Amino acid sequence: MDGIALVTGAAQGIGRAVAVAFAAGGTRVAAVDRDADGVAKLAAEFDGIAAHPADVSSAAQVEDVVAAVEAGLGPITVLVNVAGILRTGPVLGCSDADWADTFAVNATGVFHASRAVARRMRVRRAGAIVTVSSNAAGVPRAGMAAYAASKAAATHFTKSLGLELAEYGIRCNVVAPGSTDTPMQRAMWAGHPGGPAAGAAAVVAGDPAAYRSGIPLGRIAEPEDIADAVLFLASERARHITMHDLYVDGGATLRA
Ligand code: NAD
Repeated sequence: MDGIALVTGAAQGIGRAVAVAFAAGGTRVAAVDRDADGVAKLAAEFDGIAAHPADVSSAAQVEDVVAAVEAGLGPITVLVNVAGILRTGPVLGCSDADWADTFAVNATGVFHASRAVARRMRVRRAGAIVTVSSNAAGVPRAGMAAYAASKAAATHFTKSLGLELAEYGIRCNVVAPGSTDTPMQRAMWAGHPGGPAAGAAAVVAGDPAAYRSGIPLGRIAEPEDIADAVLFLASERARHITMHDLYVDGGATLRA
């Protein structure tokens, strides 16, 4: 695919897989992450990927990075919001900082990047935005209230933006992953008494005591599974799809 994709959260996990998949298909990539070393390593490894360190929770940093990408690489044709953080624990133990940090990245970060890029896309009357949210945005999850609420905000923001931008031919869609094998997911398995493999197996099996269904397809997603859905929604093959929320969770929420 021709064009320039700005991918946030590109240093590792799903964002990295999205950046690599775009680059493999001939799309030039601006890899944005607050992990400056991580995006520098990615850019050194793959042709067509440029490192642009920035923190999406800062409106000023996002504006600067979007301006720099457009000046240096050219017009951004695709924005993919992937940067996110997860702090788990019961609501009654959730600190003000955990709540604020979670929303600053997962919801406000999506707003910052989408606003900065969409202002430029609107002038050109072209572009696609994909936000990687979570299946936790649509299903209550014990121990994940702040995360789930922030993802629900990101999902609904992206759909509402899609409505505003439809008249300019700009499409805005959501990909909602379930459990995916990344450093974020592995951090949760690490806390399992049986070790990481047992933690992964427990995710696939589900936990009725926590009202959590397992994964009907019987596997944890690879980051590339999520990247495939993102690339489809960003492509011309999805030219008549906007405001869609595509669950890529192996059926975990019994709706995909
Ligand atoms: P990850 O923690 O492995 O990677 C997230 C990346 O985002 C990191 O490189 C990190 O440095 C970057 N990031 C975090 N805060 C940032 C900020 N303020 N500014 C810029 N970059 C920042 O996570 P992942 O598993 O690859 O998740 C990617 C996205 O997918 C997240 O939004 C996550 O919530 C979502 N998701 C993941 C899973 C899963 O099981 N892994 C499931 C559902 C949704």
